[in-house]
Amino acid sequence: MIQLKTSKFVKLIKRDDPMPAIFDPDVAIYPFPPKPAALSQDEKQFYRQNIKRLLKARNAVLIAHYYTDPEIQSLAEETGGIISDSLEMARFGAEHEASTLLIAGVRFMGETAKILSPGKTILMPDLQAECSLDLGCPIEAFNAFCDQHPDRTIVVYANTSAAVKARADWVVTSSIAVELIEYLDSLGEKIIWAPDRHLGHYVQQQTGADVLCWQSTCIVHDEFKTQALATMKSLYPDAAVLVHPESPQSIVEMADVVGSTSQLIQAAKSLPHQQLIVATDRGIFYRMQQACPEKTLLEAPTAGEGATCRSCAHCPWMAMNGLKAISDSLEQGSMGYEIQVDQKLREEALKPLNRMLNFAAELRLSVKGNA
Ligand code: SF4
Repeated sequence: MIQLKTSKFVKLIKRDDPMPAIFDPDVAIYPFPPKPAALSQDEKQFYRQNIKRLLKARNAVLIAHYYTDPEIQSLAEETGGIISDSLEMARFGAEHEASTLLIAGVRFMGETAKILSPGKTILMPDLQAECSLDLGCPIEAFNAFCDQHPDRTIVVYANTSAAVKARADWVVTSSIAVELIEYLDSLGEKIIWAPDRHLGHYVQQQTGADVLCWQSTCIVHDEFKTQALATMKSLYPDAAVLVHPESPQSIVEMADVVGSTSQLIQAAKSLPHQQLIVATDRGIFYRMQQACPEKTLLEAPTAGEGATCRSCAHCPWMAMNGLKAISDSLEQGSMGYEIQVDQKLREEALKPLNRMLNFAAELRLSVKGNA
């Protein structure tokens, strides 16, 4: 459910309600989920053991996104799963012999896994784990927007629902976005880009293509603050600044490296700098620190964690993937934890996904990385 606020009214909108033709993230208020209750050490130990047992019993594998909490990422490593970006999560799941995939991430990741692995059971710790980019691009409004611009090629980011993917010509991840838009521009195509306006602006600037952007944002990356980052840079003059392109343009302009999650981890390793200021979800620090244990990683500043958690460098929906929720999901399975995608929708959404994978393969690019 999204709360839309204008000067005249405040309106609560559910996922399935009709939306205005142009979504304005500046007036959208997302209902953040409560933080999972803190667990004692004994409880953590209990759930970790339970999860390990259930993974075996169910022939399941734990697949975690870079933005989940470190204890979830370490459990994925320990149990033979993977920590990755959303597309790699789905591809790993499709190739793995397990018949059940436990996706620790947000809903569109579960849907993408189901699109690529229709024969497998896809479980999530909490089906209410959303993404503001996905919520901010409801299919009815997006259809109306696309219908107004029938001459444009529709390119959507992986952070979208199966329905939005099914409407698109291409799905794209952040690591291949510039190359794909460059290619489409070389064919003389005009683009609709959705849903992230900052990433859309970034690829438009990099390519000079004719890009019409949907106006959604990531509530985590949108909160990095230019002034505070400038102050931080002055305190750490030798530090390099690593920025995910879902961040606002003013933050991207201060970056030494702009890239997807996988590209930022790679940059952290290869840069000569000993100190790194990182503007993306702090969940990435687990993997990044493994890649360069000798370096100091610093969180880029936000406005600070408030009562609503609107401003902190950690996605509140990613935080829903706690140990108890994973254990419950494996225990109860299809009773409220399984992702389903309509068969016709799945077939339609698979086309633009496969188009991207084939494009990447032709370019010999490694398609990794998104939110
Ligand atoms: S960090 Fe942003 S893009 Fe990633 S899942 Fe959360 S809201 Fe979506």
